[in-house]
Amino acid sequence: MSINKNEIYTIKITDIGTHGEGIGKINGYTLFVKNTLPEEEVKVLVLKVGKSYGYGKVIEIIKPSPYRMTPPCEAAGKCGGCTMQHISYTQQLCLKQNKVKQNIIRIGGFKDIDVLPIIGMEDPFRYRNKAQYPVTKDKNGIKIGFYSLGSHKAIECNDCLIGSSKNEEILSAIKSFMKENNIAAYDEETGKGLVRHILIREGSYTGEIMVCLVINAARFKQKKELIAKLDKINGIVSIVINFNTKKNNVIMGERCETIWGNDYITDKIGELTFKISAPSFFQVNPIQTYKLYSKVLEFANLKGSETIIDAYCGIGTISLFLAGNAKKVYGVEIIDAAIENAKENAKLNNIENAEFFAGKAENIIPTLYKEGISPDIMVMDPPRKGCDKSLLELILSMKPKKIVYVSCDSATLSRDLKILCSTDEYKIEKVQPVDMFPHTYHVETVCLLSKQNL
Ligand code: SAH
Repeated sequence: MSINKNEIYTIKITDIGTHGEGIGKINGYTLFVKNTLPEEEVKVLVLKVGKSYGYGKVIEIIKPSPYRMTPPCEAAGKCGGCTMQHISYTQQLCLKQNKVKQNIIRIGGFKDIDVLPIIGMEDPFRYRNKAQYPVTKDKNGIKIGFYSLGSHKAIECNDCLIGSSKNEEILSAIKSFMKENNIAAYDEETGKGLVRHILIREGSYTGEIMVCLVINAARFKQKKELIAKLDKINGIVSIVINFNTKKNNVIMGERCETIWGNDYITDKIGELTFKISAPSFFQVNPIQTYKLYSKVLEFANLKGSETIIDAYCGIGTISLFLAGNAKKVYGVEIIDAAIENAKENAKLNNIENAEFFAGKAENIIPTLYKEGISPDIMVMDPPRKGCDKSLLELILSMKPKKIVYVSCDSATLSRDLKILCSTDEYKIEKVQPVDMFPHTYHVETVCLLSKQNL
């Protein structure tokens, strides 16, 4: 039987894909169907037929899964953010736990691996401290929302249920600022229009808010008008303009200008206070971040005499979280502004045994090693693409007693674990998934490796 586009088929969903989409088969042909769940029987309209797999859209759920939920968010099903809101939270956790395990087995090539029970949230909504909204034009005017899965089609959403309830008020103020001043939203096709993105950051402990407008111009002329709209909103301590005139899909440009208030917001994780500036990375789920960092500390099992390298350190959060229990911590991070924040954060918290370096981890750490710095414990928390291969090889020659690898992508984690364990000098001791991103398909993992034959 051949599969035809625009035809309707009844299929059983048997698996779940990496983006949380259901997978079913029609006579052996694989079809990806968003918003479906394993064990469900569904009617699908075939949208796209490729050589080895295709895509379908669910038009009727004949037999629903017992784990199916009615998503509370108005944009669910369309928005590319929460692709799992139709699945009960406990089942989301099971699926993520299994995803980590399967990746380590399939990609990492490890046979039998124990994965510790995933650490979930008690209340999996309103957890994000940061929101990034693309601003686009549509026939009714300005559209502020999120991209749909795998595309740059924006879905209107002013009150994202995993974000702060404050955001709606801020977005509405910016919308009226744009209307009153005849300011156009950016158009990706033509490269015209001024406002590209709105970034809102909120310190969940301090309540301090930063609003950053990413604009398609080298100068921003309506500072006064924007400030007048925002400065009365409770919590806002920083208004920043970021300039991005490049025709690409990178959100932020290189230059920022603070037009009102501070260049940063402050927030707390545990006992520590952090300054966070617009371009710096800061974990988006503060409740889970505390649990994640506590696991890193537990796995490192510090005695006070250790030298630690924290690669991909951002604003120094993990470095400073560990410094109190170690002899010395060296943090390495590619973004200059983040390293400036890291140095200030060390001072702010009276931590004197942490030193920070700006540059690529794969360039800086070899230099540190040549200068005689060899870590007892190597901590790394790379972006989704994982670690540079040369860095992994260097780690094998530095021979730290422990490696604590924090990962936001279990596929690249598994690839890197395969390299780190290839010489049999390191063994995986613990794998701990942490749900930092409920309702999305993302899962964080902390992994402890220990040096054998010490
Ligand atoms: N450990 C930090 C940040 C983790 S996110 C925290 O928990 O907050 C990953 C960080 O790696 C980002 O700050 C990013 O800017 C940085 N980064 C990306 N590529 C890098 C590289 N090649 N070398 C060093 N840092 C890099």
